[in-house]
Amino acid sequence: MNLIFLGPPGAGKGTQAQRLIALLGIPQLSTGDILRKAVAAGTELGRKAKAIMEAGNLVPDEVVNGIIDDALSKPEQAGGFLLDGFPRTVAQAEALDAMLAKRGKKIDHVLALEVGKDVLVGRLSGRETCPKCGASYHTTSQPTKVKGLCDKCGSHVVSRADDAPERVRQRLVEYESKTSLLTGYYEKQGVVRHIDGVGTLDEVGQRILRAIGK
Ligand code: AMP
Repeated sequence: MNLIFLGPPGAGKGTQAQRLIALLGIPQLSTGDILRKAVAAGTELGRKAKAIMEAGNLVPDEVVNGIIDDALSKPEQAGGFLLDGFPRTVAQAEALDAMLAKRGKKIDHVLALEVGKDVLVGRLSGRETCPKCGASYHTTSQPTKVKGLCDKCGSHVVSRADDAPERVRQRLVEYESKTSLLTGYYEKQGVVRHIDGVGTLDEVGQRILRAIGK
């Protein structure tokens, strides 16, 4: 099954994606995670992306399209995949359709996670992630058992530089102006499933499973 998670920053895409890939046994492809790893490793890709990401702007389409085209060529993706954070513009969605078509594949479901702006800002400002294993937490709604340490692997959790309030506002502007148009793009293909993203992790997780017929 080939899935896309759509939704504004803070809608819960990353968290729900982790649960879903474990259940379905398919890999998650997150352009944000791939870019953050490249920045941490100081690769050429990371050097190109660092300042753009810290400002909360979008990395150029050709850069992220290249990341996804490479990833789709790997055998791990043959049995399905879940895209999180890509596509983010209509041009990326068109490029993705071409990449899939040449491999005889298509998108089965676009999961549009819907959450109001006030909830988003609150969620993002307390968000913490583990740089080592990728687990995500929130200082009030889902705190680590020991303050500052990952429950799963014991590493120090970090807040993302782009979760600072002024960066969050810029990311929401980018979302409204570019990414929200994608819902219309995929509506035309009849694959959009609207999911209420407000509720407990389990409640939202159940809604997602129902939407994809599981
Ligand atoms: P995310 O973890 O998905 O919120 O992504 C973090 C940041 O990485 C974004 O604010 C962008 O700067 C960059 N990024 C991730 N995915 C994309 C994409 N598909 N297109 C452009 N920039 C992206």
